[in-house]
Amino acid sequence: MATQEAGWVWQCNIPTYEKMWEIVRIHPGIKCSELATAVGCSKSTAWRRLPKLEMSNLLLYEDCGRLFAYEQGEYMISSSRILYHAAGFPEMPGNLEGACCICGMHGVGREFAEWDRPGFTGRDFLSDGTIICHACQFSFGEQSESLTMVVEKWWSTDAEAIAANPDRVAKWQKKHKTTALPMSEDINVTQKWNGWCIPQKMRNYTHIVKDGMWYPLNKGQKGEMKLLLLGDAGRLPELAVISETGQKHLVFRAKTNPLGQEAGWILFEEQLLWISQSHLAMSVAVIEKLLRLGFSKTEIETGDYAQHRIAPVFAAWWEQEAKAVCLRGTESWELSIFLSQRE
Ligand SMILES: [Zn+2]
Repeated sequence: MATQEAGWVWQCNIPTYEKMWEIVRIHPGIKCSELATAVGCSKSTAWRRLPKLEMSNLLLYEDCGRLFAYEQGEYMISSSRILYHAAGFPEMPGNLEGACCICGMHGVGREFAEWDRPGFTGRDFLSDGTIICHACQFSFGEQSESLTMVVEKWWSTDAEAIAANPDRVAKWQKKHKTTALPMSEDINVTQKWNGWCIPQKMRNYTHIVKDGMWYPLNKGQKGEMKLLLLGDAGRLPELAVISETGQKHLVFRAKTNPLGQEAGWILFEEQLLWISQSHLAMSVAVIEKLLRLGFSKTEIETGDYAQHRIAPVFAAWWEQEAKAVCLRGTESWELSIFLSQRE
């Protein structure tokens, strides 16, 4: 009451903003509710305090309900730009300046309406803008010179093209019942970019950027994917776009990770996952042990095993299946199944 001389005083242990800052810094990707628990206040109090956390040279970034702290200069960069940067800024058409409809960032490129195509399925992702920037054009490349060169599907001479494609040569020789060598054009390689090549599409590949290096990988390169995602503990790749079907444009749907994170964003086909390296590594290890015991990926994924396969290896199966029970259905499970290999 306004006229009371004495009354209740709320005594709460107000955490300093510096402490909240420190926690976000040490645990990038922490949820607001977790931050609230860590400093002992309610979630709504933590939310109210967040704008005040942007002190001096530090910036706070909220992304899908998770919090990140950045020092100035260390800004969030779009997935297409981190990829374009790693690919060495290949030349792209257009010199219009404006906001990019795909990544939402200010940049240079060509008119979006002129680039737009009926098959483009990312309309739910479009931002307000007028252009598609060079980086985004690069990530949608249907005949990418840089990609074709990086994955070594480009050859400077006829002889190199023939030598690099024994399967195509054999097919041609069988069809024409001859042992003669074909010409490059006979085996469906194209003359482009001053040489012979099989032009590659960006959407057919998994794209990982690690320590500023671009690694385009095909579906069969699971070992390389695992090494890039898990081989360097505490340092997830800056960008991980894992394509399962190799059919869809995915880069623009991905999110980037600052350097030096143990947990971060991985795009697995169209699912954006928050993945901890140690959790993913554990999941993959369990699945691979089960694969080596002779179970199929479908059995391991669903937990629905053929009984006759369990009997001969029961103890070893149970040791792993007891762990798999807890992992099945977690965020990284489907990705772990995809990455796991029997060998
Ligand atoms: Zn863009």
